[in-house]
Amino acid sequence: MSFDTLGLSAELLRAIDEQGYNEPTPIQRKAIPIIMDGKDVMAGAQTGTGKTAGFTLPLLQRLSANPIKNGRRPVRALVLTPTRELAAQVGASVDTYGRHLPLKSAVIFGGVKINPQIAKLRQGVDILVATPGRLLDHASQKTVDLSQVEILVLDEADRMLDMGFIHDIRKLLAMLPKNGARQNLLFSATFSGEIKQLANRLLNQPELIEVARQNATADRIKQVVHPVDKLRKRELLSHLIGSQNWRQVLVFTRTKHGANRLAQQLEKDGLSAAAIHGNKSQGARTRALAGFKRGEVRVLVATDIAARGLDIDQLPHVVNFELPNVPEDYVHRIGRTGRAGNEGEAVSLV
Ligand code: AMP
Repeated sequence: MSFDTLGLSAELLRAIDEQGYNEPTPIQRKAIPIIMDGKDVMAGAQTGTGKTAGFTLPLLQRLSANPIKNGRRPVRALVLTPTRELAAQVGASVDTYGRHLPLKSAVIFGGVKINPQIAKLRQGVDILVATPGRLLDHASQKTVDLSQVEILVLDEADRMLDMGFIHDIRKLLAMLPKNGARQNLLFSATFSGEIKQLANRLLNQPELIEVARQNATADRIKQVVHPVDKLRKRELLSHLIGSQNWRQVLVFTRTKHGANRLAQQLEKDGLSAAAIHGNKSQGARTRALAGFKRGEVRVLVATDIAARGLDIDQLPHVVNFELPNVPEDYVHRIGRTGRAGNEGEAVSLV
């Protein structure tokens, strides 16, 4: 099946073609027509399934079919994400897929100066991608107006609740047009009672979309366990990277401190390494990720929250230096590899 049959505009099809996508992923096939129809959606899908294009493409289509003719552009689509990195990635997708459309977008998150964001918002933005905390700051300073939002997307809603954003989300929902006057899309990898409650409050007769969970695609991801003495994990990791000549490895640790220490030790072993976690400044996180994507940093050591939503194409190796506490995190972690049809390997040191 090709993208042509989904009813997307020529501008969007051109952008998709330029990305080199040949056919829609399962979530895209299901979500795009439903969202274009204006329906609410509750979708079970993780990062790596193509969900971002799954909501971005129909969102762009709806906004461009109904352009604002005069005056300043109000925010008509709002995408909330749990992390800065995910916000940046969704923003980049909006730019990529919308490059042939006359729509403007902005990305707003904390940890960086607020004034450039205010300037950008003042110019008028059709699509706003934001993390909840900084968006609330803008709302309380009246530098953003959410009263004309037509489409709301909650991306990785489960992680937003895990990170304690429920109160911020409630406050933001109160600033949007009344439910019923807007389209709501909720994406989540897992469906706890709390998520279902949020969905009940937020969604109007949603269409339910489920795609195969990442752990059902394990045939593309080879999973390996190495039992090893705790004190010798670092040594084994260096050995694996060196002897198997891994060029790009994402390593997960449980703590920020552990991530820093491991990155330093790997550097001592002669491997270029960087740590990425919540205590690092946004600039440091962006630099580390960019260096890793360019292949200058061979090992990126991350905590779960920092790694959430990282979109690194064709990442071949993921290592669990420590196993996570909850199964969902394991699924998310190994989902960094084996993306979009590529093979991947996930190694756990236990
Ligand atoms: P996501 O789940 O949205 O984070 O997307 C995962 C990765 O799949 C991203 O690197 C996308 O660029 C890529 N992708 C999205 N849609 C397609 C498609 N239809 N064909 C190939 N790759 C895609």
